[in-house]
Parts: sequence; structure tokens; C-alpha cells
Amino acid sequence: MTTLEDWTRLAGEITPRTEIFIDGKYRAAASGATFDSVNPATGELIAPVASADATDVDAAVASARSAFEAGTWSQSSASHRKRVLQKLSELVLAHGEELALLDSIDMGKLVTEAHTVDVPSAAELFAFYGEAVDKQSGEIAPTEPGNLALVTREPLGVIGAVTPWNFPLDLAVWKVAPALAAGNSVVLKPAEQAPLSSIRLAELAVEAGLPEGVLNVVPGLGPTAGAALGRHPGVDVIAFTGSTATGKRFLRYAADSNAKQVWLECGGKSPNLVFPDADLDAAVDKAIFGAFYNQGAVCSSNSRLLLHESIADEFLAELVKRATDLRPGNPLDPASTLGALVDENHTHRVIGFIDRARADGEVLTGGTRETVDGRGCYVTPTIVANLPSTAELVTEEVFGPVLAVQTFADEAQAISMANDTVYGLAASVWTRDLSRAHRVSAALRAGTVSVNTVDALSPQTPFGGFKQSGFGRDLSLHALDKYTGLKTTWIAL
Ligand code: NAD
Repeated sequence: MTTLEDWTRLAGEITPRTEIFIDGKYRAAASGATFDSVNPATGELIAPVASADATDVDAAVASARSAFEAGTWSQSSASHRKRVLQKLSELVLAHGEELALLDSIDMGKLVTEAHTVDVPSAAELFAFYGEAVDKQSGEIAPTEPGNLALVTREPLGVIGAVTPWNFPLDLAVWKVAPALAAGNSVVLKPAEQAPLSSIRLAELAVEAGLPEGVLNVVPGLGPTAGAALGRHPGVDVIAFTGSTATGKRFLRYAADSNAKQVWLECGGKSPNLVFPDADLDAAVDKAIFGAFYNQGAVCSSNSRLLLHESIADEFLAELVKRATDLRPGNPLDPASTLGALVDENHTHRVIGFIDRARADGEVLTGGTRETVDGRGCYVTPTIVANLPSTAELVTEEVFGPVLAVQTFADEAQAISMANDTVYGLAASVWTRDLSRAHRVSAALRAGTVSVNTVDALSPQTPFGGFKQSGFGRDLSLHALDKYTGLKTTWIAL
């Protein structure tokens, strides 16, 4: 797929699945309710999607539980699980164009980015966790003679995975792949703004050989389907990615129901610190990527830029120039450099942040809502400078293409400004001074610190936050900790 015409033709050929997926089969919501899936790039209805409520969530949890108890997956050998997940990885790649297109029409991201980044990463994660599970062994703990203490990792049962809309396929797979690899059953509740790739993924998983009922998908609204899953006494673990406000709700749901485990991956307001001795060209380049990739809808987006005052003017002049090169365009056009925002509500929200910021600082570029071919939800890349630390744009997550810029006088001030936030997901540091790189990285309260790059991550490295950005880690072998419980079997010989 190399042209707008190719992608547009494929979009015309695909009929997305829009139902709930339980026990290996698609079905309508028990109530018959639907919600509209709308393409934010055009404003056109894609399709009505089944809207799960507590009855459907009940059925999905029952199916997941009975599959878990049956043991066809939970007690299958690690090498069997590996083969199925490897097959699923291959199927994701084989259906890569379709999956990329579903995410693009659902939430406005550039289809080429979905196809070249999101799809291969999703496939790689299934392979990564598949490969991991047959290489892990238990432990034998030291004991007094005459005893044998075995320490093993057991799957926990039914995992409720609740995911956001910004990387719909990938963030579902961040939960589903390690949860399945460990032998659990999963009920996945994708974001209502972008459920289509998750709905399709369930079918591919069965095609790969996953037993029916092991992966169920319940599209639906947050306060309905999401809350039902969060409150369900038959769910053992909630693995959540989304906003901090919703994450806190899941802690309450758990406390008010069965004290299920809850793991949160939440929001951020990640700082990008540029010192005067840095490679400024590279720093400008990555600052643009860090702020505007995926229309700024990245949890670890570097949405605060902290510049040393001696380089601020020069840096900002170049930054503005490069930001204006990014123009919103049709997400299906491989020549486009910025896609659409997820929907009308979010677009209003982002423009609201920008309008209010005009009173706090100076809008250097962007700040406007745009259309492409006379329609759609687009916002130009926006840079706002001269902001005080108390400004809303410095403290609140926008989740759009809006960069807040501040200056600092010295290292101590830079660290203090960077850490002055309720979030702690990511941070970046630009310097050629090795000691400063170590000193500043150590002082930053963030789950990931990227030095001389931004937003670094890989399947092999843990991803997650400090403070109100959450706890527990996605990616890497550490993610398996969330989906397993340690069991001690003590034998008196
Ligand atoms: P959101 O919190 O609105 O929704 C996330 C999920 O929770 C969705 O599936 C939604 O339907 C559900 N939900 C919403 N309200 C609910 C309720 N009352 N009860 C139960 N479930 C409910 O977040 P979003 O707008 O989809 O995503 C954006 C947020 O996600 C940002 O804050 C972003 O930083 C965060 N995020 C975090 C990470 C990470 O790894 N830390 C990754 C991506 C996105």
C-alpha cells in the first residue's frame, strides 16, 4: 500500500466487525443497544457498534471463567501457548493493512504510521511473550534439611483489560499478550472511540488456535461496560490504561467489590529538558516528534519543553519552523504528516486548552482548528511559550498537539520544574555531559528517562509511571508479574 488511492480502495472493501465477542462468537448486545463509530477525518459514520452493558459483561466474564477452569489454555504447556501466540503474531502481520486501516478510520491516526509502527509492534509483542513463557522456571527456596519449598508462578484467572483510544491495537496487545502468555483468560474492554481493531483481534486469536472463551471483547461505553467490568466479582485483575481520573475510579470499583488487583497505566505531563551543551539540531527534531507524534495523543508525550535560557530564542525559532512544516492531512494519504484528532469532543477540549492558554503565555504557532477537504477534526501543531509554572497548560494533560515551553536558569531549577507535577511517566534530557546526564536522570521522578532521545521504549524494557501516572509495568518480562501470582508449595519430606 503506497498511495492514497490504494488505502481508500481498501477502506471501501472492508466491512468492520462491530459485535461483542464472547465464547468465540460474535453477538449483538443483549439489550440490542449500539453506539456510533464515526471517522473523525471525515465525520462519516463507519458503523453502529454493539454497546455492552452489565448483562453482556457478565456473559463475557462467565465465558472467560469457564475457559479458565476447563484448563485447555490455563493448564496447557508453555510450548503450546508459545506456538499459538507465535501464530497470532503472524496473523496480525498478515492482516496488517486491515488492522492499520481500522485504527486509522476509527481514531484519525496516519495509516502509514499504524501500518509501519503499531502493527509490527503488536505482532512483535505476541511473539515476545510467546517466546518468553517456555523459558521461565520456578524456584526452589533454601529450607532446613527435610523440607522442600517450591515457588511457582500461577495464572490469576480472569483479567479485565481496559484500554484507551490513542494506540487502540497496540495498547490492547500490551495487556492481552502477557496475560494470555501467562495462561489467563481475558475480557477486553476497548475505548468506545476506537474499538474496531480489538473486535477483529479476537477473531484472529481464535484462528491462531486460542480456545474459545479465553479472549472475549466487550465494546461499550466507559461508565457502562467499563464500570461493569471494574465492579465484577468474577474478575481477578483489572489491567487499565487511560486517564488518571478513570484509573482512580477502578481503584474504587475494586474496593467496593472483590478487592481485585488493579494495575494502572495513566496520564502524564512529561518534561523534555534541553541543556546548552546538547546536540540542538537533534533535540529540535525529537522535540517535534515528542510533542506532535500521533497528534500529541501519546501518554508519554513530551508535552513540556524546558529550555536553558541561553539557547531558548534560537531553539524556539527552529522549532516553530519545523512545527509549521507539519500540516494536518487526510490520514489515509501517505504524504500526510499529521492526522485527525479522535472526535469532536476531544477537538473542542484541545481548542479550549489553547484558548485559555492565550491569557497565560504566547502562542508562537498553530492554535487553530482546521479541516481537510472541508471536513474533519484537525488542530494545527501548537507551541505556547512564556508560561508560568502554575499555568493550566503546564500542569494539565491535553493529549493533543500542544507544546508548553518554559525556560530555566540552571540544572537545579530544571530538575525542580520537571518534577513539579502530579505525574511521573516519562522525561527526556538533552546534554553531551555524561555526568550531568546521570545526575539529572537520577533526580527525575519518571518511569522512563530518555537521554538524547525522547520517549524511548521497546518490548524488552518496562514501561509505566511513578506518582499519579500509575504503577505496575507494561512491556518486558516484568509485565508478567501482573498476570501471575507466586505460589509456595512446601513439602515436609
Ligand atoms: P479514559 O480514561 O477516558 O478511558 C480509558 C478507558 O476507560 C476506556 O476504555 C473507557 O471506556 C474507560 N472508561 C472511561 N470512563 C469510565 C468509567 N467511568 N468507568 C469505567 N471505565 C471507564 O482515557 P482515554 O481518553 O481513552 O485515553 C487517554 C488517557 O489515557 C490519557 O490520560 C493518556 O495519558 C492515558 N494513556 C496512558 C498510557 C500509559 O501507558 N500510561 C498509554 C496511553 C494512554
